[in-house]
Amino acid sequence: MSRYRAWFAAQDDPDERYPLTDVVYYSRSGGLLEVQHDMAALGERSAEEWKQLFDSRWMRTTWPYGSGVWGKKEWVCPEVDDANVVSTFEGGSNLFWAERFGREIGVEDLWIKMCGNAHTGSFKDLGMTVLVSVVKQMISEGRPIRAIACASTGDTSAALAAYGALAGIPTIVFLPKGKVSLAQLVQPVAHGATVLALDGDFDACMRVVRAVTSNPDSGIYLANSLNSLRVEGQKTVGIEIVQQFDWAVPDWIVIPGGNLGNTFALGKGLLMMYDLGLISRLPRIVCAQAERANPLYRAFQNGWRYEPIKAETTAASAIQIGDPVSINRAISTLKRFDGIVEQASEQELADAAARADRTGAYACPHTGVALAATIKLVERGVIARGDRVVVISTAHGLKFSRFKVDYHENSLPGVTSRYANPPVELPADVDAVRRVLAQRMGE
Ligand SMILES: *Cc1c(COP(=O)(O)O)cnc(C)c1O
Repeated sequence: MSRYRAWFAAQDDPDERYPLTDVVYYSRSGGLLEVQHDMAALGERSAEEWKQLFDSRWMRTTWPYGSGVWGKKEWVCPEVDDANVVSTFEGGSNLFWAERFGREIGVEDLWIKMCGNAHTGSFKDLGMTVLVSVVKQMISEGRPIRAIACASTGDTSAALAAYGALAGIPTIVFLPKGKVSLAQLVQPVAHGATVLALDGDFDACMRVVRAVTSNPDSGIYLANSLNSLRVEGQKTVGIEIVQQFDWAVPDWIVIPGGNLGNTFALGKGLLMMYDLGLISRLPRIVCAQAERANPLYRAFQNGWRYEPIKAETTAASAIQIGDPVSINRAISTLKRFDGIVEQASEQELADAAARADRTGAYACPHTGVALAATIKLVERGVIARGDRVVVISTAHGLKFSRFKVDYHENSLPGVTSRYANPPVELPADVDAVRRVLAQRMGE
């Protein structure tokens, strides 16, 4: 038995508590539940001891601690049996110095956290490993769960389907028809999920899945991020970034935001480090939104007064959300971290991704949103030239090949591709090839 404990608590009444293995998503007053940890027990170990423990496990093979998430098990979900952990050794993604790109945009200490280098190609694996592990634990304790379901803009369903398949638990995913990339659609299909493509947007899928899972007797467990178990895994991203800098805190962390669970999760992990003394200051957080799906940006401009909007089509399809589930807790996080919300147009996000690719990254459109926001904040002098900046790359560029191809064919709607690099089509003729090469190299 672990000496550490965690439980669900109502946001508005910390005394309203439930075990993490209960099928419960809302408090009695209808608010979201948070996972709380026994901080007094965690505080019995010194900051130095925690750092040493986490470093000793980092990327090793001892099950399940080599996972970036489960290497911090005491802080994440202490009471799951190791035998019930469902893991692909997620986390531990590379943090790379974007040297050339940073120099180009005027901030030399620029880093990209490559969360898309993950089993299912996005950072959603970080949270899904926790949720599916808890479900496996629940089933092993005899709870009648028959399936796990989620609404998704693509990456959540890919992660749920993969982790469900690993555990042998059936999964059901609700996708907005025609609004996810081909790679994202084929992932749950391949993993054997029941894939329901609904005629509507993400917000509509969310309403349907909430209704389907609202009765605990349905035996269908809800995996969306309003289920705070996922936050516990997602929050390790900020802890990892600091750990990868040998426990030094960067000045800025930039993250793209849609449903905003991840903005909250990033802050939660950092605050835990702060409260347990592993760090003594906090970075500033920038949440980056697509201009066409920007309810948080509007709220930021408007003294944090929020109103849901109807999200319009954006290449950053995973964040095409008009009524984010975690709006309130994301706003609290941004206030605590002296945060900023910036937005990026289709032109800006596509060009930013293309420029990053030219310097060796391979940015998905959401990462493009975060990079474009970074460029704007550097240009405005908000981010200073000497600041250390980390951009969280949320998905692998290879999941968005259509976006890349369309950009380089100059056919993305509303975008003039300033960095297009289409292939040159030629006859298989040496002289023709020499002429083109002479032109290209001569310049
Ligand atoms: C889910 C997702 C996001 C946004 O995370 P939220 O918690 O919904 O704000 C950003 N990028 C990608 C690729 C995602 O899959």
